Amino acid sequence: KGPDPDLVAIAERLANVKHKILVLSGKGGVGKSTFSAQLAFALAAMDFQVGLLDIDICGPSIPKMLGLEGQDIHQSNLGWSPVYVESNLGVMSIGFMLPNPDEAVIWRGPRKNGLIKQFLKDVDWGELDFLVIDAPPGTSDEHISIVQFLQATGIDGAIIVTTPQQVSLIDVRKEVSFCKKVGVQVLGVVENMSGLCQPVTEFKFTRMTETGEQKDVTEWVMEYMKEKAPEMLNLIACSEVFDSSGGGAAKMCREMGVPFLGKVPLDPQLCRAAEEGRSCFADQKCGVSATALKTIIEKL
Ligand code: ADP
Repeated sequence: KGPDPDLVAIAERLANVKHKILVLSGKGGVGKSTFSAQLAFALAAMDFQVGLLDIDICGPSIPKMLGLEGQDIHQSNLGWSPVYVESNLGVMSIGFMLPNPDEAVIWRGPRKNGLIKQFLKDVDWGELDFLVIDAPPGTSDEHISIVQFLQATGIDGAIIVTTPQQVSLIDVRKEVSFCKKVGVQVLGVVENMSGLCQPVTEFKFTRMTETGEQKDVTEWVMEYMKEKAPEMLNLIACSEVFDSSGGGAAKMCREMGVPFLGKVPLDPQLCRAAEEGRSCFADQKCGVSATALKTIIEKL
């Protein structure tokens, strides 16, 4: 029996892709797509040629996070053309193929696997320095497929995104175990939503009145600071939101022998950038989260 022609076709198609990085998470909603999107923006800003492939077939959020909602994929004789944010940042997602974004994609494994195969075989990425692959949460059909389809070309490694809570960390252990079983190197774990950081001026302050009501005293606090200590208005306030008494992702990484890449705080400005499909790095207000992300990306 000769080599699988699909795998050969994929290897040929991706022959000019230098690095392939998988972004994984144990649970949904931990910021995996946000991280993938910002990683792609960051690499593109460093002048690399970047492709971002969304294989979250049932919940594609990449088009929105890259500011590409409502765009269509075009076909040429070279295959499907990615949708470009800039000339060096191309994106492919099932989100571009759905006639109605509100419609649920109810597909069983084989059909999902078929589309992933097509994404790898038929997309004309051209030459890429990095292909960032945003996977769905968990370890299911899509994950097994992507690893299998990329067998011949190899995957540089996986980045696992988690939040600091135990419930999320337990699932990260499963992701690490999955990577070990399928022979994908874990590049590291990112602890996202690790505390809340935002400028003092963005907080709302309230005070309980004698009648038990919450009264908004934000204006009073701001005026007071402005008068007594104006430099305080430039402060960024951070607080632990989730319980990380168990040592969080850093401790788990030490136990499992995988690199810990760093923490990214919950930052309303980062959320806004993601919702509006922008890079957080060009946004002055995204100070803390952008710096944290940059430090993480430099470690890769
Ligand atoms: P996942 O891909 O893991 O399901 P998403 O990336 O879609 O998660 O993130 C879920 C929501 O949380 C999105 O609205 C996103 O903008 C927001 N979010 C993710 N990380 C942060 C963060 N560090 N600060 C603020 N909001 C965040």
